[in-house]
Amino acid sequence: GKVSSLRFDEVSFSYDGSTSTLDKVSLTIDCPRRVMVVGPSGSGKSTILRLIENQFSPGSGHVRVNGVDMRLLGEEQVRQLISLVPQETILFQASVRENIRMGKLKATDAEVEAAAKAADIHPIIMSLPDGYDTDVGEGGSKLSGGQRQRIAIARAILHDPQIMLLDEATSALDPASRVAVEETLRKVTQGRTVVAVTHDLTQCEQADLVYVVKAGRVVESGTHQSLLDADG
Ligand code: ADP
Ligand code: ADP
Repeated sequence: GKVSSLRFDEVSFSYDGSTSTLDKVSLTIDCPRRVMVVGPSGSGKSTILRLIENQFSPGSGHVRVNGVDMRLLGEEQVRQLISLVPQETILFQASVRENIRMGKLKATDAEVEAAAKAADIHPIIMSLPDGYDTDVGEGGSKLSGGQRQRIAIARAILHDPQIMLLDEATSALDPASRVAVEETLRKVTQGRTVVAVTHDLTQCEQADLVYVVKAGRVVESGTHQSLLDADG
């Protein structure tokens, strides 16, 4: 079914059982929305995404999709609903096409190619990450950071997820490829809920809702403009 809400209700989390990483974090996301979580390095942003992905469960509180605790969802169900684009992408010694298929091993060639087209990586689908072309056997050039992130985007959309998580997905790129990859992200995230994390508030202009986190707590939330007004 359609996801209409994603909520954190007073979620606390610790990796080691003693240090608090998240402290009673509450988030209310009506779907589809573009939500940004902004905060300094180490404030708990990636951890929030890991809890949405159901990699970990809260120590206390609840992460809920349509009111249902994530603990009650199966792994396959979560994988179909939610996918993440990481900051840096791990590639295998295989063609771009097979690397994209890692997002959904049962995907047909047609599905992989559609995802590659949507992510604007289709022209190099037969290339290998180290620059060797699977048809020609040699030649080509090393994949750029932007191309690698496009592979990650294609992987992430193979399941046609309703929720996409972006973990600083463009922050390792040079300014020109960042602009280009952000354009692709805008296109492929249309109609989906996006939860994107960043340390840079200027990245939040496009967001419907911004949460500011510091040291594992939500300290402010609102539109980008309302946060600027509050700070100014
Ligand atoms: P951010 O994404 O905002 O940089 P993280 O969620 O990665 O923050 O990290 C929040 C805190 O949790 C940091 O103090 C970090 O060192 C710690 N942390 C992150 N991942 C782990 C882990 N796998 N094991 C133990 N501590 C971790
Ligand atoms: P980010 O800030 O982008 O989340 P980090 O550089 O904080 O990344 O962390 C990189 C990796 O190291 C992550 O997989 C994270 O889970 C892990 N990590 C971070 N802090 C710790 C920690 N204190 N103990 C163990 N693993 C950690």
